[in-house]
Amino acid sequence: MTASAAVFGVAATEEGDDADCPGVSPHPAVPRPGRTKLWWIEESLGRGRVVAHTCACQMTSYELVRCGGLYQFRRHALARHDVPPVSWTARWWRREEAYAWWRRLLAGQAR
Ligand SMILES: [Zn+2]
Repeated sequence: MTASAAVFGVAATEEGDDADCPGVSPHPAVPRPGRTKLWWIEESLGRGRVVAHTCACQMTSYELVRCGGLYQFRRHALARHDVPPVSWTARWWRREEAYAWWRRLLAGQAR
């Protein structure tokens, strides 16, 4: 059975190749030079519910997670020396502010 090898072959393609992309969730724009740098930590507010997410076909994907009345971003990254596989924004926000930051993240204005 060589199916698993074929699957890994597809997974190893470059970012930007849309072979694995379901084309449903947004892809964040390339970060802009003057973007706001978000501070990422490895602790979360607690168990939460994902209310928005970016496309999982990307090397790095983001989720907007609601925990009670507060929101945090969660980032999933492929293992790199400088980025943990899962991290969270050190800041958390109330709803309106959280969605404003989410739009900035998608627009490449915050990352
Ligand atoms: Zn995609």
